[in-house]
Amino acid sequence: MMVDHIRRSFAYLSCLSLLAIVAAGCTLPDLTRGRDYGEPPICEVHASVMTKQKVPVISGYDLYGPQWAVAMHEYFPHCDSPRRRDIDTTVYGEWALDYVCPECNKARDNWFIRNRPDIARAKGLIE
Ligand SMILES: [Zn+2]
Repeated sequence: MMVDHIRRSFAYLSCLSLLAIVAAGCTLPDLTRGRDYGEPPICEVHASVMTKQKVPVISGYDLYGPQWAVAMHEYFPHCDSPRRRDIDTTVYGEWALDYVCPECNKARDNWFIRNRPDIARAKGLIE
């Protein structure tokens, strides 16, 4: 009787564990999203999963001045702002497919608001 109870409890707990594992598997983010192969694309600054997006390509890097270039390199390297034409990705005319980090976009917008309110206003980030 006691052995039956233990056996049934063990089977019940095993089922619960299996369900928990399946449920966890269903809620984990898809780290391969936007990636063709290899390791998931993670932003080295924000540790956020990046997605592959179409971004504009330009010839110069100082789109909004030299301070912009330094800030982009350090704080929001994967924002969806225009990329240099000589970046290490395939360029299709005026645009390229590259990985974009949502946190880099937020950091870029905040940089505009703090350092270039004229651009932030033109982009509708501030009134
Ligand atoms: Zn980022």
